[in-house]
This record gives sequence, C-alpha cells and structure tokens, in this order.
Amino acid sequence: RISLVRSLINIIYLNIENYTLRILSTIDRLTGTYTRKYLESELSKKINESKMSQKSFALIMLDIDDFKAVNDKYGHRVGDLVLSKIGRYLVKNIRKTDIVARYGGEEFVIILDNVEEEQAVKIAENIRIGVSQINFPSIDHTITISIGVSLFPKHSQFKEELLIKSDQALYSAKEKGKNRVVVWNANLSD
Ligand code: GH3
Ligand code: MG
Ligand code: MG
Repeated sequence: RISLVRSLINIIYLNIENYTLRILSTIDRLTGTYTRKYLESELSKKINESKMSQKSFALIMLDIDDFKAVNDKYGHRVGDLVLSKIGRYLVKNIRKTDIVARYGGEEFVIILDNVEEEQAVKIAENIRIGVSQINFPSIDHTITISIGVSLFPKHSQFKEELLIKSDQALYSAKEKGKNRVVVWNANLSD
C-alpha cells in the first residue's frame, strides 16, 4: 500500500509540474500578458466560436510611440519597466472575456470579445487615454501608444487577414502622427 501511495504522489507531482509549465509558457514574463503563440491559438478558437454564435469581435494592435527614444535616453532597464507597467495596465483594464498578448518587442494585441465597431473604438480610445495617464516616475515626458483596429467578420473572417488589417490600421495611425486610434478601411490597402 505504501508503495502504491508513493507512486500516486509522484504522478500527482508530475501533473502539477506539467500544469505549471504549461501556464508559464503561455505568459510573457516581463509584461504578464499572454504570449504571441497563445494569442494565435485563441484567435483561431475565437473565429470558430464567433462563426457559430454569429457574434462579432475586434482585433486591436497597439505599439508604443517612440519607444526607441525611451531606451536611448533612459536605458534598456527603464524601457523594460515601461513595457512591464503598460502590460500590467492592459491586463488589469480589459474585460475578463478579452485576451491581451505581447505580440512583438513593444507591440501588444488584444482580442475584444463580442463588440461591434462603435464599442471597439470606444474601448480602444479608453486604452489609449489610460496608457497616456500612467505615471512613470523616472521619465519626464508622456508615454503614448498608437492603435489599429480590425473587425470580425466585417473586415475579414480569417486570422491572418485580421492581423494584417489591424497592422495596416496601426501603421496608418503612426503615419497620421501617432497617439491615435485608426479602424481599418479599404483605402489602407492601396
Ligand atoms: P514608433 O513610434 O514608430 O513605433 O517608433 P519606435 O521608436 O517605438 O519604434 P522602433 O521600431 O524604431 O523601435 C522599437 C524599439 O523597441 C526598439 C527596441 O530596442 C525596443 N524594444 C523592443 N523590445 C524591447 C524590450 O523587451 N525591452 C526594451 N527595453 N526595449 C525593447
Ligand atoms: Mg513603437
Ligand atoms: Mg514596434
């Protein structure tokens, strides 16, 4: 009996370890947001679910404005702190059903569950303003972000195309002068 209990304990420990590893590999350590890989698999799921339920959702891509200048002026460590604080702000300020991930160096993607265009823009604006109000004690200027938005199924029903379109909208937000929200439209593809 004792040896049976020992083997069971070992199996339980292994399971806990596997579970912990799985959670750790889905979360980006610096920002506390999900990883790009996790987001991409969730996005596929979301598309399938939304097709079944005939609901719409939004894909937000956001990028810190002039972040290179922050690194250059204050150093990489302060840059990391800014990234970490923005990531944690996003995690705290989205709804339970939304998903935020670090998509690249200083770029985040958010899946906004069950929204139409108007509400998506409102939420994106709130995020933009919220981030600009975060206090960074070691930095003497305001940190802002630019945001691109694409919508399922209005702009696309495909994962890659949704990502490309929010990226095009983000690019346009940068081009227009940064610190703003742009929703994808057909003119951006030209
Ligand atoms: P833009 O407004 O057009 O986005 O300008 P930008 O300076 O933010 O963009 P750019 O792509 O030129 O620079 C992004 C910078 O982000 C460069 C890179 O060193 C920095 N970066 C990326 N990942 C990290 C990171 O993990 N930590 C720190 N500290 N910096 C990072
Ligand atoms: Mg940037
Ligand atoms: Mg970038």
